[in-house]
This record gives sequence, C-alpha cells and structure tokens, in this order.
Amino acid sequence: MAGASVKVAVRVRPFNSRETNRNARCIIQMKDNTTCISNPKQPKDGAKNFTFDYSYWSHTTVEEPDFVSQEQVYKDIGEEMLLHAFEGYNVCIFAYGQTGGGKSYTMMGRQEPGQEGIIPQMCEDLFRRTGENTDPDLQYSVEVSYMEIYCERVRDLLNPSNPLRVREHPILGPYVEDLSKLAVTCFSDVHELMDAGNQARTVAATNMNETSSRSHAVFTIVFTQRRRDQMTGLDTEKVSKISLVDLAGSERADSSGAKGTRLKEGANINKSLTTLGKVISALAEMGCKKRKSDFIPYRDSVLTWLLKENLGGNSRTAMIAALSPADINYEETLSTLRYADRAKQIRCNAVINEDPNAKLIRELKEEVTRLRDLLFSQGLHELLVCVCVCSDVKSFYYRKQRR
Ligand code: ADP
Ligand code: MG
Repeated sequence: MAGASVKVAVRVRPFNSRETNRNARCIIQMKDNTTCISNPKQPKDGAKNFTFDYSYWSHTTVEEPDFVSQEQVYKDIGEEMLLHAFEGYNVCIFAYGQTGGGKSYTMMGRQEPGQEGIIPQMCEDLFRRTGENTDPDLQYSVEVSYMEIYCERVRDLLNPSNPLRVREHPILGPYVEDLSKLAVTCFSDVHELMDAGNQARTVAATNMNETSSRSHAVFTIVFTQRRRDQMTGLDTEKVSKISLVDLAGSERADSSGAKGTRLKEGANINKSLTTLGKVISALAEMGCKKRKSDFIPYRDSVLTWLLKENLGGNSRTAMIAALSPADINYEETLSTLRYADRAKQIRCNAVINEDPNAKLIRELKEEVTRLRDLLFSQGLHELLVCVCVCSDVKSFYYRKQRR
C-alpha cells in the first residue's frame, strides 16, 4: 500500500521517587534507535530488542552525552509534523504508555525554561514561522480547541460545562458538536488557553476523586493558509488539522487496584484504549497484507472515532510511547513496547488539503500558456496582451465554474 508509515518513538524517563525508594533497577538500554528491555527474572537471556524511528534516552540528566532533551524530541518529531502542516497535511502526535510513564511531560511538559513539551514548543514555533512571513498575498489563521474524553464522554476544556455530543458530518466526518474553537493570533493567546484547559482538567479530576491520568486529552490546532492569486484574483486555502493527544494510562484496570465504580470507569476508559489497540492491530495487519478494505472498528469508541483520519487515513501521524525504566514495571513496559512495535506497521495516506480553487487556478494558468503559445505560433503576439488581462482570465473562470 502507498503512503507513509506512522513514525514511532519511545522515550524512557528518569526514576521517580517511588522507584528510587524501592532501589529499582533500570531494565532499559538504548543504542541508536534500538531499545533493549531485560527481564528482571531472567537477567541472563530474557532480553528483547525493538527498533523504532527513535529511541529516546531521557533517563539520566542533561549532562550525559546521549541524554535526549525536550527540545530534541520537539526538533525530531514536533518540527517535522509542523512542517507537514505548512505543506497542508493533517498531522497527529499521540503519547501512549502507563500512568507515570511521561506522556504529559512529553506532550505538555512543565512551565520552567527547557521543560516545555511538544505542544507549547510547536505553538511557539508556529507563530515564529508565521510571523516571519512578508508575502502580502499570504495570510494565516490559527484556531485552537482542547477537549478531554473521560468515560466515553467529551468535555470541552476551554468551556467546561455539559458533556458534548459526537456527531458525523457527511463529508468532514466525525466531530464534536459545540466544541469551542478559539481564534488565536499569538503564542501568549495559546498559552493562556493551554493553562486554562490544563487547570480545568485538574479541577475535574480532583472533583471526581481521580487523577487526570484516566482521561484522554486532545489539543487541536486548525491552521489555515489563505493565498491570493494575483493573476486571477482568487483566494485559495490550505487547511491542516493538528491533533496532539495525551492518552489515558494504558495499564489494565486490575493492576491499578480499581474496584466498584472505579472499575466501571476503568472499563469505559479502557473501551477507548482497547478499541485503539484493536484499531492499531487491524491497521497494522492491513499494512502487512497490502490489502485495502479490512474492517477497522473505529466506531467502537469515541477516541478512535474522532481520531479516525489520524489513525489510518488522511494524516501524517507519530506516536511516542513513554516508558518507565524500572524493573518493577517490566510487564507494563514490555506491553507498551509491543504496542509501539505494532503501530510501526500502520500506513496513512495523507493528502494536501487544498481547496478546489487551487486546482482551478492551475488549470487556468495552463490554459493561458496554451493560448499564448498558440498566438505566438500564428504570429499574433500583439493579441497576447488581451489574453493576459485579468478580466479575461476571470471570465474563463466563470465559464469553467458554470460547466
Ligand atoms: P504520564 O502523563 O504518562 O502519567 P507524567 O508525564 O505525568 O506521566 O510523568 C510522571 C512524572 O515523571 C512527572 O513528575 C514528570 O514530570 C516526570 N517525568 C516524566 N518524563 C520525564 C523526563 N523525560 N524527564 C524528567 N522528568 C520526567
Ligand atoms: Mg499524564
């Protein structure tokens, strides 16, 4: 099958205090883009190797030569995806892994300098690049939304009220009804929204006596590039949707000691995650068999339904799997590595989201060239002036549109 594969990276974080207190041992090793995990119960021959697009060693400190910083992760993955957005592709980055693995740190990060994650770095980079534009015919607009999926319900983090409904547009596909989409003109605008959304996430989690690790957070940037074509006076538009997803913890309900209502919630949260797993498996299989039309159960959960395009369709997609380094998390970490390994096989068929005007303009210009050549060949080049007059081209356009 044609198309680009999903980019997959894994990243291992430093020990947390719980792991340090328990004298945990590091069972992850990395060399270039390969990650090796050893089985603490079979230290001799239980090691397994996995190769990804990137294996990020963030276990030690910045001083270490092979340490990978927030900035480096952004440069490799965030910047590449942002450049695709400028080309007009939809893009998606999602972070997967058990609670405490480092998903939120990688996606959102912390406020201190050098600790910002992919989302704030990408927003800053986006406005830096658009700010450098000097072309008067090119204009940009940026809109942001931020939502949370908890127990198969969608909440607007920029306007927390009642749960929102997921609906389906006949052409544009699944979307969240009434989700706030706020226009932003500079990085500090986005920063405010991001802070407000993160705050709303924490408050809701505290009220429900839960941690935000049980919900999926989706930060979306809709980036539009509008270009005026001088020759025809027409506007063309390229729209890219950038989806940045911080998934709920991937650990199974039983391993986090969930009981009663929590277990029920767990089942619901797992519904989105289990479905994501099934979707990834089905897509990976499809990628291998080179078959086109397998059944993919996107509709079975809110998360996969909303991320449908990003998973197997019109999108450039990257996944970052966040790993604990500790022996006590061996089983979960191995299962995360296997998950990431499967995601490598997915292929997406991304297309540039140009509006029909762009195609039309290209055709018109070809027609003008053809006529010009014709006139030259007949020695009638004085008439050329007429052909190039804009109103003529416009009448071409209207005639073409009426057809
Ligand atoms: P998750 O979102 O997967 O549940 P977090 O991102 O909240 O996990 O990470 C858990 C803790 O570990 C946080 O205190 C976070 O700041 C820290 N952490 C995670 N990854 C890193 C890293 N690469 N470098 C430094 N601290 C990290
Ligand atoms: Mg988190």
